[in-house]
Amino acid sequence: MSDLPSLQRRASICGKRDVEEVPFIELFGARLQGVVSSGSDPNRVYISWVAAGSLDYYCSTNNNRRCGGLGGSACKHIRQMVEEAAIQVGTERVARFLKLPDSPEHYAKTKGALVAALRGAEKSEPATAVFSRFLSYLRYCELAAPKQPAPEMAWFV
Ligand SMILES: [Zn+2]
Repeated sequence: MSDLPSLQRRASICGKRDVEEVPFIELFGARLQGVVSSGSDPNRVYISWVAAGSLDYYCSTNNNRRCGGLGGSACKHIRQMVEEAAIQVGTERVARFLKLPDSPEHYAKTKGALVAALRGAEKSEPATAVFSRFLSYLRYCELAAPKQPAPEMAWFV
């Protein structure tokens, strides 16, 4: 019984949700793309992508403002996104997907090689397509699961 206050305190700590750094990544079309939280402004996110093959890249806010970190090389958001993708799907898969010049095993073995390989050019493009995919992904996360059987799901049984 004496543990109760500390348990309650722990529960309230768990209830506080940290803003994740990279809430969304996907390998889609011929791009690795994602949404990266701004380190300073909780209301701002960056939309980053890297194209497979050419390794061209871009990063902008959800309001299509060019990321100030772009200056002849990939910004920290792009690097964060690539690192997060390596964690989520594996370094070799990311290397293979982006068609990097060395063997996928090389990138898996050499720390920092994946990010160092991002040598494409900046290519401006509106963030809209990636951002709307992120929003629809969020919508799925927010859907309440019905307690009753859902007849539509019978297709999958
Ligand atoms: Zn950026």
